This record gives sequence, structure tokens and C-alpha cells, in this order.
Amino acid sequence: MNPLASLLLGTSREDPSRPFLRTQAGDTWTYGDLERISGRMAHALRRLGVTPGDRVAVQAAKSADLIALHVACARAGAVYLPLNPAYTDHEVAALVADAEPSVLIRRDQAGGSFRELSMKTFAGSLSDADPAFEDVPRSADDAAAILYTSGTTGRPKGAVMTNGSLVFSAHTLTPAWGFTKDDVLLHTLPLFHTHGLFVAVHCVLASGSSMVLLEAFDPARVIAELPASTVLMGVPTHYVRLLADPRFTAAATRGMRLFTSGSAPMLVATHDEFTARTGRVILERYGMTETCMLTSNPLDGERRPGTVGLPLPGVEVRLGSGDPGGIEVRGPNVLRGYWRRPELQASEFTADGWFITGDLGRLDVDGYLEIVGRSKDLIISGGLNVIPKEVEEVLDRLDGVLESAVIGRLDADFGEVVVAIVVAEPGAALDPEVLRLMARERLAGFKVPKQVLVVSELPRNALGKVEKARLREFVQEE
Ligand code: AMP
Repeated sequence: MNPLASLLLGTSREDPSRPFLRTQAGDTWTYGDLERISGRMAHALRRLGVTPGDRVAVQAAKSADLIALHVACARAGAVYLPLNPAYTDHEVAALVADAEPSVLIRRDQAGGSFRELSMKTFAGSLSDADPAFEDVPRSADDAAAILYTSGTTGRPKGAVMTNGSLVFSAHTLTPAWGFTKDDVLLHTLPLFHTHGLFVAVHCVLASGSSMVLLEAFDPARVIAELPASTVLMGVPTHYVRLLADPRFTAAATRGMRLFTSGSAPMLVATHDEFTARTGRVILERYGMTETCMLTSNPLDGERRPGTVGLPLPGVEVRLGSGDPGGIEVRGPNVLRGYWRRPELQASEFTADGWFITGDLGRLDVDGYLEIVGRSKDLIISGGLNVIPKEVEEVLDRLDGVLESAVIGRLDADFGEVVVAIVVAEPGAALDPEVLRLMARERLAGFKVPKQVLVVSELPRNALGKVEKARLREFVQEE
């Protein structure tokens, strides 16, 4: 038995001629192709000396082969370790030192150890490999993947996801979002992160639907592909960029069944603009690397902007004391632990076994969860708590402000003071002092930014999340 391989190849075995994907270049794969190519790759991994439980680290451009390689690892019983192609050699070296993979497959070969090879060399080694491969038995508790959490500062933290956690998540999400064989997912997300891989790709494979695999998110390309698609999974910046394009109209979305958003908070204003433009409501959901998906607005039923919906079936969510409370979760979807970091079991889990997400939230009367921020982003100024999101919402509504990010800066008197980093709307000129005065009309004095910096854009990671750690470094150095 190999639970993950069975999930990923269920359709390949039942209906091999079904279309699986189409790439941006127009190449097409059936489900049978996925089984054959992943079979060859599993043999090639074995020839490279990979044995069950070994880590296989991969840093390569988005491609159909990369999906097959993930499936090949599941079949060979290896632990898949995807790395962001943007990481430098230095960053990769740190993660490799931590994970000790037996093979590292990269976009270009850096010529390091004998176990390092390029994706091209790897693909070139497949022609004489047997497409039939007998999946290595695995149990639900066996590790299937390690994902390093987005924070790249400090010592790396690898979240170990098991066969069982990934299978549970796919089985939960597919019905929750109504996936059927008739769906066509427009895939625009990276493949090294939970959202693009364990949410998007696994929903397709678990339901036998098909996908259009785009190399990256490009609004014009996305709009052109919408008529041939039924589902788009995006991050908030994707929707902001679509709405900025006049070709994104109600007519352009006519054949679409579902738009989802997550990985970062979506402004209510974006929700509202999307609905006004298309007549549709984005389904916002919440999850993280360590837990896969946790909550979702309903497919049928009210989707509440500003909330991330209700706990998914089988997932438990509770709030710690205080308002907002720390979000704690439990369920088969939660990571087994951090790779070789047993000490984190005590700091990242409660004594009664709930995972501490580090997010702060509130539940409304109907149980919809609102995410208010990250506990480590909470600013304590003169002993008073300031929730950055509350200040950001006030700033974002001021004339001429496109968006903002609020952080704390160390201060000898107050411990921390509030600092806002603001981006102007195109053509608008912002005066930091005027913004402070306008914010003061709506916020208590201790919440009003002591300093407002106007910048041309906010630093964001590949998933569109504002990188507050980078802003903090920038502001402390000022
Ligand atoms: P990552 O591990 O990179 O997927 O980041 C997970 C974090 O992203 C969560 O802990 C939240 O802080 C944030 N996040 C994910 N989805 C949402 C959402 N829908 N709204 C607000 N924050 C989100």
C-alpha cells in the first residue's frame, strides 16, 4: 500500500486516456502519460541511489516534469523537498545541509557533489527507464514531503508532511470545492509551495480533472485562458492585477465555476470590486505550510468577505484567550513535526497537542473565522496592543493610498512605536504628515503611526505576502 501514490495515480489507472494537462507551450499529457513518466522517473531515482525515506531536493522551473517528479518521489517512497527557484546557492546550501537529501536536482547544475544534477540531465536519463514501476509500500505516518516555511531568516524549519496528511487534505478539499472530472484548473501558482502543489495539483489529481499549467501569473494570459477553464486558485495580488485590466469582465468569467483566494489577506475592497465587476464572489480560504488547508468559505452558502470561512470537515480550530485570540488547530492535516527539531514540538504545539498557527483571529456568531494578523506582528507600544491590520485598514481608505503595511520599530521610550509604509495610487502625491493627521481622526493616539514612509511598492514574496521582516530591517536601519 502506498496511500499518496494511490491518490495521485487513481485516475491514471482507471482512465489513462483522460487529458491531464496542457502546458503554456501547448504540450499535452494524458493521465497515462503521468503514470509512465513518473514510473520512469522513479526508476531513475532508484538508479541514483534513492531509497525509501531519502529526501529528494528539487530546485527547478515550473513544468509538467516537476509534477511528475513529485509523483515519482511518492511512488519511490522518497520524501519530496521542493525549493523556491529564487533561492541563491547560499540559501540552498543551508537547506540541503539541514535536510541532507540523497539527491539534489536543479535548474542548472552547480557542479557540487556527485549527487547533484540538473533537471535536464535527469530528464535525459529517462529514455531507457522502464515506464512500469511498482509503488514502494508506505504507511500513512511515513513522511512524504518536507516544506521549508516561508521565513528564510534564522535556522530553517522543515515541516514534515506525511502520506496521511496529504491524502486527508486532498480528500477534504475536493468535495468541499465541488471538484469533478469536468473541471479545468487554471494553474498559475508556484509548484514549491503548499498552495500550488498540495492544494491545486492534488485537487486535480484526486478528482481526475485537468489543468492548464501556466509558467507564472500573467493577467493577459490568464484572461485569455479563462474561457477554457472552470477554476482559478489565486492569491490576493492576482485578483488586484486582474481587476486592473479592463479586459477582465463578467463576460470573460462566464465559463468559470470557482475563484478561490488565500495565502495572504484579501481586502474587503478587492472582494467587493470583484463582485461588482463579475457578479461572482471569491471563495476565500485559509491554510499554511504546516497544516495545508484549515478553513474555507462554503461552496454553497454565504461567503463572507473579510473572513476565511468555517473549519473544513475533520479539522478543528480554536482560539486561545484574549481578543483577538491565537488560532490553534488540530486534525490529520497537521504536520507530523519539524524535521530534526524535536525541541519545536514544545514551542509550536500546546501541551494538549494543538498546533499553534501564530495567527490571531476572531470567530463571528456563525463560526466564520476572521484573521486579524500574526501574533509576532502585534505591536506593543507603551504597553498597549496595536493590531497592524486595524491601522492598515484606516490608511488604505485614505485618499491617494493604494496600500499600506504597518510594523513596529524599537523605541527607547515606548518599547515599540507604530510605523506605516505606504504606497500611493498612480499619480497621487502623499504627504506623510497629512496622512498622520487623517489617521488620527479615526484612531486612538497610540495607534497612529509615529512615522509614515512613502515607497513605490511593498516587498512581497512569491505568494504575494508582504514581507514584514524585510520592512522591519529597512525601518530599523533608517
Ligand atoms: P504559508 O505557510 O507560507 O502558506 O503562510 C501561511 C500564513 O499565510 C498563515 O499563517 C496566515 O498568516 C497567512 N494566510 C494564509 N491564508 C490567508 C488568508 N486567507 N487570509 C489571511 N492570511 C492568510
